[in-house]
Amino acid sequence: MADQSFLNWPFFEDRHRALHAELESWASANLPVDHSDVDQACKDLVAALGKAGFLQYSGAKQGETLDVRSLCLIRETLARHDGLADFAFAMQGLGTGALSLFGTPDQQSWLDKTRAGEALSAFALSEPKSGSDVANIELSAEDKGNHYVLNGEKTWISNGGIANVYTVFARTGEAPGAKGLSAFVVPADSEGLEIAERLDVIAPHPLARLKFNNVHVPKTDMIGDAGAGFKIAMSVLDVFRSTVGAAALGFARRALDETLARAKSRELFGAPLAELQMVQGHIADMALDVDAAALLIYRAAWTKDMGAARVTREAAMAKLYATDKAQEVIDKAVQIHGGDGVRKGSIVESLYREIRALRIYEGASDVQKIVIARQTLS
Ligand SMILES: Cc1cc2nc3c(=O)[nH]c(=O)nc-3n(C[C@H](O)[C@H](O)[C@H](O)COP(=O)(O)OP(=O)(O)OC[C@H]3O[C@@H](n4cnc5c(N)ncnc54)[C@H](O)[C@@H]3O)c2cc1C
Repeated sequence: MADQSFLNWPFFEDRHRALHAELESWASANLPVDHSDVDQACKDLVAALGKAGFLQYSGAKQGETLDVRSLCLIRETLARHDGLADFAFAMQGLGTGALSLFGTPDQQSWLDKTRAGEALSAFALSEPKSGSDVANIELSAEDKGNHYVLNGEKTWISNGGIANVYTVFARTGEAPGAKGLSAFVVPADSEGLEIAERLDVIAPHPLARLKFNNVHVPKTDMIGDAGAGFKIAMSVLDVFRSTVGAAALGFARRALDETLARAKSRELFGAPLAELQMVQGHIADMALDVDAAALLIYRAAWTKDMGAARVTREAAMAKLYATDKAQEVIDKAVQIHGGDGVRKGSIVESLYREIRALRIYEGASDVQKIVIARQTLS
C-alpha cells in the first residue's frame, strides 16, 4: 500500500497503528480467498478472523465499548485486500450490534461465539415493503405472555442462510409507526424460521429472504425495551454507518494503488501513461477524494469514540461521501486500465461491482442527504 501517512493523523493512538500493522501483515498472508463458494468462504473467513483475534473488535460486552476507529481501520484494510473478508468481519459486528449496545449478560453470551469466529450473525431489518422506510416494518411479534410469536418476512438479509443467530426487528405495536417496533435475538434453528429464497447480486455474498412462520421467541430474548426497536436499530447504524464508509475507502485506496501501478508501467505514445496530463488530473482527483473520505470517516469514528451519544450527522456525511466518491474513484481506475479494466477477474473490475451496493444499504445515499439536511437545518 502506497500511502500510510493517514495513520499519523491525531485521530489515532499507538494501539490503532499496532492493530493496522498486525492486520496488514495477516491480510497480506491470507487474502484474497477463493470466492467460488461464497457461503463456505464466509464461514472460513469468520473462523480465520476469529482465530487471529480480529473479531474481538466486532462486539462489546457490558463494561467494554465498541471502538469505532478500530472497526473502521479493520474494514478499510480488509476491503483493500478482499471484499468478502470485509463483509465477513462487518456482519459479525452489525449482526450483534444491538446485543453489544443493549443486550443483557445472558444475551451477550452470543458474543463469546461470534467474537471467536464460532458463530455467524445477521441483522434482519429490511422487508419487501420497508427498506428505506424502516418505520413501516410489518413483521409482527404478538405478545403471548411469556413469549412472542413472530410472523412475516425479512429480505436482503446478509448472512441469511448461513447465520447462526439473527437480530430481528418486529412490530410489537406499542404505538403506530417507528414507536411500535422491538428487537429480538433469534437463533437460526428456531422452529418456523425458514430461508425462503437465496438472493444473488453483482458482487456475490450470502443474502436471503427469510420467512417467520409462528416463530416462538421467549420474552427474555427481547433486546432492550418493548417499543425501543427503532431507536436500537438507529443506534446500531450510528456506529456501523461510518464503517460502511471505511469499507468504501478500502476499495478506493485499492483502486488508486492499482491505478498508480498501471499508469507507471503502461507505455503509451512512447512514455508511461502517468506522464499524460489528463491521467494526472484523474489521479489528483482520486487522491483528493480518498483523503477527504478518510478525514470524514475518522472524524466520525473519533467523535463517537470520544463519548458522543450520537454521531448521526458525522456518520451520514462519512457514509455518503466515502461511498459516492469511491464509486467515482473506481470508475476512473477502470477507465485508466482501458480494456483490462472491464476484463472479468481483474481487480478493478471486481471493485467496480463491489462498491455499488454500499451506496444502497444501511441507508441509501439519498437518505443520507436527507439526514444531513435535517441535522444541518435543526
Ligand atoms: C447487498 C445488500 C445487502 C443488504 N444487507 C442487509 C442486511 O444485512 N440487513 C437488512 O436489514 N437489510 C439489508 N439490505 C437492505 C438495504 O438496507 C435496503 O436495500 C435499503 O435500505 C434500500 O431499501 P430498498 O431496497 O427497499 O429500496 P427502497 O426503499 O425502495 O428505495 C429505493 C431508492 O429510493 C431512493 N429513496 C429511498 N428513500 C428516499 C427518500 N426518503 N428520499 C429520496 N430518495 C429516497 C433511494 O435512491 C433508494 O435507493 C441489503 C441490501 C443490499 C443490496
